[in-house]
Amino acid sequence: MGEYFNNKKLGTGRQLMDVSRNQLINEIKFLKDTKQCNTNYRTLENYLDLKLNFIFRFPYEEELNNSWDEDNLVKDFSFSVNPEFVEIPHNENTLADICGDTYKLPFCPLSKKAKELGVVKRNDSNISITIFGEEYSEDNPDGFTLFTCTTCEKIFCIDKKESLYVKKLLNKMGYSYIASCIKYKNSEEMISMAKELSEYATKLDINRDSLTYTYQDALKFIKIQEEEDDRNLTLDELKEILDDKKFCCC
Ligand SMILES: [Zn+2]
Repeated sequence: MGEYFNNKKLGTGRQLMDVSRNQLINEIKFLKDTKQCNTNYRTLENYLDLKLNFIFRFPYEEELNNSWDEDNLVKDFSFSVNPEFVEIPHNENTLADICGDTYKLPFCPLSKKAKELGVVKRNDSNISITIFGEEYSEDNPDGFTLFTCTTCEKIFCIDKKESLYVKKLLNKMGYSYIASCIKYKNSEEMISMAKELSEYATKLDINRDSLTYTYQDALKFIKIQEEEDDRNLTLDELKEILDDKKFCCC
């Protein structure tokens, strides 16, 4: 079952791998701006609903110039990482080619389980991973990058620390655009902190113009502050910064 909009294939099921989220946003803007009433852009807007957890194509640089009607022929991008810095989960079943025959193994040859059984990778200890796409959810409105183990194709995401390592690695390899698009999945701690902070900031504003400070605003604020300070901040510290900002604006 495919997902189509005006004969253009978007993807299959929850995986809209034929479009990036930005392409979708740009197309909706285009339809609105040109007032194309015959095309129902609202159908397209449904795909942006964060409750539905859609997965989009990774925003590769090559597709930036592609028009909406063109098919994106972007090749998968793979690179090697040190498994000590990125925790990579693996599938239970993997097909492996050995001397021209295909074997079904009850483990990925790169998994810890395989290592325990004595499977040794001979060349180097790095593991090849492939960029799969981007997932968006209510807790992650700005999205997070999905990867797969290139060997067993298990899909996984990375945390903040892992993303710093991956970005640095890609920059060193000369893929600065790809590095700039890598996003981590928010930790439970970050999610609850942003929720609390958005309530706190909205309350601060209650006697003034009462701007709504959304969860997304709070997330953005935390990420910018942490990048500026180059460390993780506590909720109390973040509240203090917000208080100070408040007085500055008055
Ligand atoms: Zn694997």
